[in-house]
Amino acid sequence: MIPFNKPYMTGDELYYIKDAVSKMKISGNGYYTKKCHSYFKEKASFRNCLLTSSCTDALEMAAILVDIKAGDEVIMPSYTFVSTANAFVLRGAKIVFADSYENNPNIDANSLENLVTEKTKAIVVVHYAGIACDMDIVMDLANKYNLFVIEDAAQAIDSYYKGKPLGTIGHLAAFSFHETKNIISGEGGMLVVNDERFDARAEIIWEKGTNRSAFFRGEVDKYSWVDVGSSFLPSDVTAAFLYAQLENLQKIQSRRKTLWNNYYDNLKVLEEEKLIKLPEIPDYATCNGHLFYIVCNSLEQRSKLISFLYDNNVCSVFHYLSLHKSPFYLDRNEYVELHNCDIFSDRLLRLPLFYELHVGDQNKIVDLIKTFFDRKEQV
Ligand SMILES: *Cc1c(COP(=O)(O)O)cnc(C)c1O
Repeated sequence: MIPFNKPYMTGDELYYIKDAVSKMKISGNGYYTKKCHSYFKEKASFRNCLLTSSCTDALEMAAILVDIKAGDEVIMPSYTFVSTANAFVLRGAKIVFADSYENNPNIDANSLENLVTEKTKAIVVVHYAGIACDMDIVMDLANKYNLFVIEDAAQAIDSYYKGKPLGTIGHLAAFSFHETKNIISGEGGMLVVNDERFDARAEIIWEKGTNRSAFFRGEVDKYSWVDVGSSFLPSDVTAAFLYAQLENLQKIQSRRKTLWNNYYDNLKVLEEEKLIKLPEIPDYATCNGHLFYIVCNSLEQRSKLISFLYDNNVCSVFHYLSLHKSPFYLDRNEYVELHNCDIFSDRLLRLPLFYELHVGDQNKIVDLIKTFFDRKEQV
């Protein structure tokens, strides 16, 4: 069976974990946490960042930082993971879902202005598949209405918008190092703080609402409870694992992009015959090889293709179910129609893509898809 995903170990993880353990300080904000922070500041030009236990945690921190209160409205795509919404719902926000583009699952930036009301506080964008949203439009709108922008950059490591790294454009950004992402630590994430107004408070919220970090730097003489917060910081064992991955970022990225391009080049003919659609990368965006998807012509066709691939030992998977149609949301909100989002929900199919996927296996997957579409009765 060719799995959908297989987490890649660089081989240095256990070495760094052993080193972290031997330092006898494996709680948060230790040696490897600081090494990861420096890496991101120096190599990825993130102004300020904090490792977290997950991207979900980083999103929850963002919701606290922009001070979401009961009744505030937050605009975000419906085609996303549940954490994008939950982080803000936990603080009492009303979620206002926006549609995707017709040819791209990302939030339709031109549809956002109509959704802004007196109560709107923030816009959350999701760079789906690591492909950038149209950030100039989003940031202009945010400036016009005085809104905060949070980038859910869970899938967007090492990807760019007009040359700027994703995660450096909104006021805040959240990354994931979950084992399904490009760079992993089992569970793991990171908050990026681009607006310096949030620096001091971010560190406090991260450390359970205390000024512990300032105390250890000798900036205050007592370490006290000064704000709300939680235990958002990961163990240094997790950071040690992550550091091994970061050192191999370029190698991992180059392999994933090669695999992505192979799929694209080899499946192009099916798109030309209008049998499927392939991902569209706008001029302003790059591809970071996070995931490769095709869009089928119907839900029924997608289900048949999944079964056909499965019967031939290939595991392919669909992705998000529209959040605006979820039981939780519909119990509390009016139904709105988001046509493009529903299309991706019904028809998008992700193919296996992981560092150790062999080109031979990849060719087999491509051939199987072509065989499926050759059989006219399937289409
Ligand atoms: C993976 C993912 C998350 C959640 O990340 P965790 O680290 O598992 O909390 C959130 N949003 C998007 C878009 C994701 O892909």
